[in-house]
Amino acid sequence: MERNGSNGTAVVIVAAGRGTRASQGGDVPKQYATLAQKPVLARTIAAFLDCRGVGPIVVVIHPDDVALYEKTIAALKPAASDMQRIRPPVFGGATRQASVLAGLDALAEHGGGAPEGVLIHDAARPFVTSQTIEKIISALAATAGAIAAEPLADTLKREGGGGLIQETVPRAGLWRAQTPQGFRFRAIHDAHRRASLQQRMEFTDDAAIAEWAGLEVRLVAGSPDNTKLTTAEDMAVAERKLISPEQGGDHKLIMEPRMGTGFDVHRFGDGDHVWLCGLKIAHDKMLMGHSDADVGLHALTDALLGAIGDGDIGKHFPPSDEKWKGAASDQFLAEAARRVAALGGRIINVDVTLLCEEPKVGPHREAMRARLAAILGIEIGRVGVKATTTEGLGFTGRREGIAAMASASVALPSSV
Ligand code: MG
Repeated sequence: MERNGSNGTAVVIVAAGRGTRASQGGDVPKQYATLAQKPVLARTIAAFLDCRGVGPIVVVIHPDDVALYEKTIAALKPAASDMQRIRPPVFGGATRQASVLAGLDALAEHGGGAPEGVLIHDAARPFVTSQTIEKIISALAATAGAIAAEPLADTLKREGGGGLIQETVPRAGLWRAQTPQGFRFRAIHDAHRRASLQQRMEFTDDAAIAEWAGLEVRLVAGSPDNTKLTTAEDMAVAERKLISPEQGGDHKLIMEPRMGTGFDVHRFGDGDHVWLCGLKIAHDKMLMGHSDADVGLHALTDALLGAIGDGDIGKHFPPSDEKWKGAASDQFLAEAARRVAALGGRIINVDVTLLCEEPKVGPHREAMRARLAAILGIEIGRVGVKATTTEGLGFTGRREGIAAMASASVALPSSV
């Protein structure tokens, strides 16, 4: 099978449905609804254009949607070479099955000859990955059909009426079918034509038609992200995944890494404990400062604020403000994390180094990591805590105080 040549595996994207449950305002079919500034269908087409081994793409649309389709292609801004791969749209029929057949007919009738393989895909699944597409194209080398699918994870119940469970249905061997569904072109085209001639229009996906026609169809593990956007809630969830909820959908989807560093020092005074990385640790001195003098939290707060270009701890919590006298420093760090989230960002990882001769940090390291992870709301695997002495040199070596360095890495929308 041709996989990387100019022809490649053809694609039929089924976009003729009238479902408006998912779209804003309720009157635009969901495949044309805007998802983070781009029509769903534009995202779906782009997923295939970006993929190796994919040849011509035919989109099956409803006759009423020509203007919406043209706007979608304009939003896609395809390169000239990609534009050649997007064939003119085809009008669909009364059912999904009829629409797929219209797309297959168009591929068969094209002057260049029918393709060897075809992928049939729902327009409302914009999150299909190149990996899934390529796995299906590869599988077609050995079998007449291959579909993206996910093994069922939930326990299945059969209702016996009145909302009561009649039985638990064994889920072993059960998969949820997704798209793309890939087939050898002639085999699936023949199967669709025969089904149409025999007026067998009850099939709910193309694999069912292939099964009916006796074709061997393989299950290919896809991705749980390859969901079909059906309801307005599906759209809202997808939008939240793509953009910051706090920015009104006004900003770019591309996330980029930012990093910041922080440094802090507090001197020792008389006392019986120190606060370090959010833990109270018994010691024969304490750290002096306006707040609880937790150098680890202060350095890390500055690192996070630095990563988002939002000043420093002194700007947000001025020592001149009586409010912060004796304050627990975990609230400073929590506020920095909140500021990251408010920009639509997320913390990738943080790392703290404590410089001191005493107290010994090693015995508290895991508890410190857990505490920092809890304050920041991230997994412990994203938190590093390290300590070093300074070999008796300098103010830390003379046990006059503790210094801390920190770095933080943050993923932010590129428009921030
Ligand atoms: Mg400080």
